[in-house]
Amino acid sequence: DEDPRVNGIKTKIRVVPDFPKPGIMFQDITTLLLDPKAFKDTVDLFVERYKGRNISVVAGIEARGFIFGPPIALAIGAKFVPLRKPKKLPGEVISEEYTLEYGSDCLEMHVGAVDKGECALVVDDLIATGGTLCAAMNLLERAGAEVVECACLIELPELKASHLLPYHGYPLLGRDRLHGKPLYVLVEYL
Ligand code: AMP
Repeated sequence: DEDPRVNGIKTKIRVVPDFPKPGIMFQDITTLLLDPKAFKDTVDLFVERYKGRNISVVAGIEARGFIFGPPIALAIGAKFVPLRKPKKLPGEVISEEYTLEYGSDCLEMHVGAVDKGECALVVDDLIATGGTLCAAMNLLERAGAEVVECACLIELPELKASHLLPYHGYPLLGRDRLHGKPLYVLVEYL
């Protein structure tokens, strides 16, 4: 059964058609941030799920994983590790490239941010094709961490994701790309 707070959260996410380009239904979480109760409910739902679960790392994906990851990390007593777009981190990094509709993108993590054997939670606002979360998991696993789960506010279903970014030749889309690890989402758009 769905937590009663989820519906309030859902109503605060603004859907902007054709942004940033035609055909994309952009899920705008900035309207959720304007509502202190809905923002707090969002963080609380994640904290209630992860508190006491032996997670020592919360890894947030630039940029919207930087909004939700830190309050979750503080509340569960974990460190926060930013996974950033290329050339933003000043120290030594490891990088993971991932394919987009046209061209590719990349995420980077500081070497030494995570120790071998640490248990990590990956946080972002939304999963579509799963390419971003997959790259994030690869970074953590290369550093020797174990990814316990990925957490997002919003899951776009496979059909929408595949129309959004046609991954020609990719057998797996969405949550099926996450190395068999669980994905926890608050809101599913059908
Ligand atoms: P993907 O790698 O295809 O799962 O895309 C997820 C990443 O792209 C997340 O960091 C999202 O913030 C962003 N994203 C993709 N599609 C949308 C959308 N329809 N609305 C908002 N953000 C999106």
